[in-house]
Amino acid sequence: MPSIHPNSNKQDKSPDQTDNLRELYQPVYMVPPPTLDWPMPKLRLEVKELAHEGSVLFFFKHVNPSDAMRDAVISVYDTLYTKQTCPRHVRSVTLYLENMNGVAYTKGSELDDDHKEIHLSVRHVQNSKQRARDEILGVLVHEMVHCFQYNARGSCPGGLIEGIAGVKLSVCGYEVRHQADNDRADYVRLKAGLSPPHWRKGGNKWDEGYQTTGFFLEWIESTYGHDFVRKLNGAMQDYKYDPSVFPRLTGESVDDLWKLYKTSSDSVR
Ligand SMILES: [Zn+2]
Repeated sequence: MPSIHPNSNKQDKSPDQTDNLRELYQPVYMVPPPTLDWPMPKLRLEVKELAHEGSVLFFFKHVNPSDAMRDAVISVYDTLYTKQTCPRHVRSVTLYLENMNGVAYTKGSELDDDHKEIHLSVRHVQNSKQRARDEILGVLVHEMVHCFQYNARGSCPGGLIEGIAGVKLSVCGYEVRHQADNDRADYVRLKAGLSPPHWRKGGNKWDEGYQTTGFFLEWIESTYGHDFVRKLNGAMQDYKYDPSVFPRLTGESVDDLWKLYKTSSDSVR
């Protein structure tokens, strides 16, 4: 019975050939050992249109879907929770690659909100092909936050929840599509180092969402303590949104924080 192991007939090979074969047969651990400390939902992938250029870019721009999804979950946990507080109700997250307008959206499955769906536009991937990898990972982190963050029982301002990278609630509840909002900034995405190069600090209102609120939250965190965003999210687990959460955590109202932030970021320019 001939062996297929590359080293079993090594005497028949020159050293160079053996090295080449060894390299070829090196086991490739595509999925590192699971991080047991964090509860990991079942992660799934469904490609609706495999031949689309965006799908091809997805798989050939070195995006390992398993790593990317797991890393996005851990990024969210690590930014918004501790190992004691991280939510355990999300049972699965499915990433759909599909040919649609816009960038991406997240929703609970029709049968059970604990099963989350992230829908990513392969057209958007195609349009971002110069930086497809970072864009895919950034959008994935942003959408993954939607799967796990608290929303003050639906009462959190949309801009704030988008700033943290949350679900901007529609009138009746859960889902809002992100239509062509290429400037999809958010705090967690900033923290993950996956912001597009054109993002800039600034903005007119603190709760504009996306990069405006993302940078603002980052500034509060760096000025008033590194747990600010985690505590802000935690305060929205069981309670309705109350702006007094800002003075409670920082000693300043959100309007005063915004003024201080604008002054400090203007002086940096
Ligand atoms: Zn969003």
